[in-house]
Amino acid sequence: MNVLLLGSGGREHALAWKLAQSPRLDSLHAIPGNPGIADHALCHDVPLTDHAAVIDFCRTHLIGFVVIGPEAPLVDGLSDTLRAAGLPVFGPSQAAAQLEGSKGFTKDLCARENIPTAGYVRVADLDTARLALARDFPRPVVIKADGLAAGKGVTVAFSDEEAEAAIAAIFDKPGGEAVIEEFLDGEEASLFVLTDGTAILPFGSAQDHKRVGDGDTGPNTGGMGAYSPARVLTPELEEEAIDTIIRPTVEAMARDSMPYSGVLYAGLMLTHAGPKLIEYNARFGDPECQVLMMRLEGDLLETMIATEAGTLAHHPTPEFSADTALTVVMAANGYPGTPQAGGAIAGIAEAEATGAKVFQAGTKLNGDTLVAVGGRVLTVTATGASVTEAQAAAYRAVDAIDFPTGFSRRDIGWREVARERS
Ligand code: ATP
Repeated sequence: MNVLLLGSGGREHALAWKLAQSPRLDSLHAIPGNPGIADHALCHDVPLTDHAAVIDFCRTHLIGFVVIGPEAPLVDGLSDTLRAAGLPVFGPSQAAAQLEGSKGFTKDLCARENIPTAGYVRVADLDTARLALARDFPRPVVIKADGLAAGKGVTVAFSDEEAEAAIAAIFDKPGGEAVIEEFLDGEEASLFVLTDGTAILPFGSAQDHKRVGDGDTGPNTGGMGAYSPARVLTPELEEEAIDTIIRPTVEAMARDSMPYSGVLYAGLMLTHAGPKLIEYNARFGDPECQVLMMRLEGDLLETMIATEAGTLAHHPTPEFSADTALTVVMAANGYPGTPQAGGAIAGIAEAEATGAKVFQAGTKLNGDTLVAVGGRVLTVTATGASVTEAQAAAYRAVDAIDFPTGFSRRDIGWREVARERS
C-alpha cells in the first residue's frame, strides 16, 4: 500500500519511522516532511490548506491511506474532504476534531455527560468575564482562550492582576472567547486511546514537560520532553479514566452523529477525587508520540487501517514494551520566543550510535549541513529499564550532538526519577 503522511514535526518523524517498519507498506510519501522524515519517505511540497491539490497528489501517487499528524488540517476539515474523495484517512472528521479545536464544545459535552472535569464558565465579553472572576472563582483560577493556541493560550492566574491581564489580552482582539475554569490540583498525565467510534483500545500513557526551564519553570512551550509510560497513571486509574471520561465521550460523539475515529489524547489531572479531564487532543502529542512509537511493538499501519475501517473490536490490543522511553527536546535559543534560525547541527550519527533515536522537527538541509529552522529542532529519544536509565541514555545522546545555538532541559523525567530513588 502507498501511504501519505502529513506533517513535518518530530511527531511525524516518529510516525514515519514506525510506518516504514510495516510489512504492508509499499511506499511512504510525506507532505511536507523534513530531512529526518526523508530517511523513510519521499517528501513533497503541496500546501495542506489546498485540499484539491492534496487529493490530486493522492491520485497521482496511487495513495491508499493518509495519516494526518498535526491538528490544524483536522480542524480545517481535510479528513472530510479526503474521505469524500474516497480516500481512507487516519484522523477524525472536522466535527469530531472539535474536541480539540473548541474548549467550549468539550466543556459543554463534559457537563452534559457528567464527565469529571474542572468547573467552568464560557464568556464572550470582558464584563461577564470580570464578573465571573470576582464572584465565582477563587484564586488560583485558569483562563483559556477558546480555539487552538498551541499551549500558549492558557493562564493559571494566582492573583487578581494576573487574571485581569489574561482576560484583557483575550478580549483585546475582536471575537475573543474565553473559558474560565476552576484550578485543579494534582499531577498531570496523558492517556492515549485508539477508537473507531465504538471500540476503544488503550494506546499508552505519557507525562510531558511543558515549561521551558529546569524544574518546570519559565514560559509554556509545545513540550520540552516526555516519557512513557506514566506510572502515576496506574492500571486502576487508567481504567477509571476510560470508564468515566473516554467511553462517555466516544458514546456521546457517536450519538450526536460525530463519531470519533483516530487517536484520542486525554490530558488528565490526577486529583484526590480521581482523574479529571483537562483537555482533549485529536492527534498524537509532540513529543509524546516519539516515546509511544519507541515502545510500540505491533504494526502501526495495520492498527491505523483497522481504526479507519471500524474493525478495532476485532483487533488485538496494541502491545508496548515494558521499557521506559524518554525524549529530550533540543530547541533553538530564543524558544518559545523567536528562535534563532540557521544554526548548524552535527553529531546525529554519533548520538544514534549510543542506541538512541533522534527524531527531527525544525530542521532543513543547507547543502550538506543540517540547520535549525524552527523552535523545537530535535527530539532525542532513548529507552531503559527505568526512567532513571532512559534519562541517562537520552542525555548521553544529547551530549553527542553538536548544536551550539540550541538548548535542552537537563531534567526531563525528574519527578519519576525522584520517585525511583526513594
Ligand atoms: P496544548 O496546546 O498544549 O494542548 P492547551 O492550550 O490546549 O494546551 P490546556 O491543555 O487546556 O491548554 O492547558 C495547558 C496547561 O495548563 C495544562 O497542561 C495544565 O498544566 C494547565 N491547566 C489547564 N487547565 C487547568 C486546570 N483546570 N487546573 C489546573 N491546571 C490547568
